[in-house]
Amino acid sequence: AGGDQAKQASKLRVGASIDFAPFEFQDEGQKDYQGFDMDLIRAVAKEMGSEAEIQNIGFDGLIPALQAKNIDVIISGMTINDERKEKVAFSDPYYQSGLTMVVRSDEENIKSFSDLKGHKVAAQIGTTGAKMAKEMEGVTVSELNTPADCFMELKAGGVDAVINDRPVNDYYINQSQATGVKTLADRLSAEDYGIAMAKDNTELQQKINAALKKLHDNGEYDKIYQKWFGA
Ligand code: GLN
Repeated sequence: AGGDQAKQASKLRVGASIDFAPFEFQDEGQKDYQGFDMDLIRAVAKEMGSEAEIQNIGFDGLIPALQAKNIDVIISGMTINDERKEKVAFSDPYYQSGLTMVVRSDEENIKSFSDLKGHKVAAQIGTTGAKMAKEMEGVTVSELNTPADCFMELKAGGVDAVINDRPVNDYYINQSQATGVKTLADRLSAEDYGIAMAKDNTELQQKINAALKKLHDNGEYDKIYQKWFGA
């Protein structure tokens, strides 16, 4: 029993919003969560002599779950920004991202972010995309639970554009079910993803950064990157 307890204690409790392919998602008939973040956090945990135990938590519930100490870390395509740094600590950046838009294929009026005035936009609740959209003048914003909900609303004609992270939009557009929509080249911002942990947990922060550095040095990070993003 002592052994079991030690094993239990060494688990790294991870929160992720499993709705963000290719970073975190679940395929029909697949038990384990998949994606770049999932492979990365499993490798980080292993490097720390631990094991990742991943919980699916809606994006806007992730920071509250961390603050309630229900999880030890968040990895969920989460952008490092000052607002969040007031509540959590972040690891070193592990992925460079940014925001783009998806519109209907026949859309002719929206070619860039500056064309959004007077239009309806959807974004995932609690994200940087939703925040940016709400700051735009004359734009009506629907904050929905998942990017999939946003894309559905776009196809149904309820909104004219979806603001979401570029790699997720690109992945979605390349899927077979993504008919009738296209992604635009215009990029709104450059954003870095980080692994979040409790603000006062500098020990865990240092361990995670050391593990990330090790994975960069030993080529494991590159392997995971190649697997999900190709060359
Ligand atoms: N990168 C965006 C953010 O941090 C979106 C993340 C997500 O939806 N998983 O707000």
